[in-house]
Amino acid sequence: MSRRYLAFLLLLLCVPFALGQQTAPQSAIQEFLVLPQQRPSAMLAITGVNLIDGTSRAPRSDMTVLVLNGRIHTVGPSNAIAVPKGAEVFDANGLTLLPGLMDSHFHLDSDGTLPALFLSHGVTSVRDPGAWIEAYEKVRRSKENQPRLFLAGPHIDGTMPAYPADSAVVRDAKETSLAVKRNLDDGASVIKAYFRLPLALIEEVARVAHARGIPVTAHLEIVDADDAIRAGIDGLEHATSVGTALLPPREAEAYRQAVLADNAARSVGRYRVWSQLDLKSERASRLLKLMASRNVTLSPTLAVFERRDGDKDATGMHVQGFRQMVAFTGQAHRVGVRVVAGSHSSVPHAERGWAYQREMELLVEAGLTPLQAIQAGTLDNAKFFRVANRLGSIEAGKQADLVLVEGDPSQNILHLRRVKRVMIDGAWLAEARK
Ligand SMILES: [Zn+2]
Repeated sequence: MSRRYLAFLLLLLCVPFALGQQTAPQSAIQEFLVLPQQRPSAMLAITGVNLIDGTSRAPRSDMTVLVLNGRIHTVGPSNAIAVPKGAEVFDANGLTLLPGLMDSHFHLDSDGTLPALFLSHGVTSVRDPGAWIEAYEKVRRSKENQPRLFLAGPHIDGTMPAYPADSAVVRDAKETSLAVKRNLDDGASVIKAYFRLPLALIEEVARVAHARGIPVTAHLEIVDADDAIRAGIDGLEHATSVGTALLPPREAEAYRQAVLADNAARSVGRYRVWSQLDLKSERASRLLKLMASRNVTLSPTLAVFERRDGDKDATGMHVQGFRQMVAFTGQAHRVGVRVVAGSHSSVPHAERGWAYQREMELLVEAGLTPLQAIQAGTLDNAKFFRVANRLGSIEAGKQADLVLVEGDPSQNILHLRRVKRVMIDGAWLAEARK
């Protein structure tokens, strides 16, 4: 085996799933981990740091975190923790330590160097919600450090898919079940239902994935979100996925038929839909209650939809539509829906490599406090991925994926761009790239 990487880390205790249990133990989730080139120090101490641990807990100043063999061993006030002899010490005075950032909506889009760039900006885990696992072959063989890769396999779609190259097209329940099982056998940690998949087949996707302990997320345009939630989905990608569920039925039907006739109708259509939505409607509050009560996670991917006055090709309708997406995200958060951070990789208002940070800024604009936005990007994403037993917060026993930034992002979310150092699986990477 190469010194450099171990291509496939299987955190799997599969016996219970082979028996077809319906429960969803977190150990069902696999990831593809390219192990860091730097060997981790056996014992490492980060001292004097301002700590944001990924939970709702307020930041704590002058803390020490001990990392032992790639895991967080001890977390406590610097004056109460004795740094063991022989430990490598990093004096982090003036810096803030956060859990490694997790991205629930990352697309490779043939840009093989993007995952490593995201990692250097603090994103230690990415989940691609719809691409062949083979599409990541080169990334996994690269000589650069890579974030943890949580993959889905091709998204499951109906005929006339919008993205043929990223789709497995299915036409009935049997084909659906086979396609989902193939993704799962290949190492999928989530299954994505795409928007041409009819409701009954979404239900079949959920049935098959859940039997193996794997969550299902969806990008919707044609199926109403409330119906898809009752069919069993665990997550919604893009705020726009709830559009038809919020519109009056006649307008929803017109939008649905337009997209059925032409996938491209959605690109301007959804801004039109969103610019007209009444977010105070009875339908809106019913849907939000359903999302909250069923524990459905929303990854709104606001940054990819961002349109502002003065943007090229943006009309008042675009600007108003986007404003409503931001407002809906805030509303969802306030009623207790789990809102998480998904970058969509490249977005109009961020330079290459900074889409994740842009999404965090927009979550704050939506009404999350900076601390809540950080939780959305760390522990809440870990829950969405079903890996919160080992990632997502700085707590004893968890894997040491950590980010050091200058300043304090709980005071100013822009400080998330001031990445100083990144640790993955207990090993520091080289200094962050700009
Ligand atoms: Zn996407």
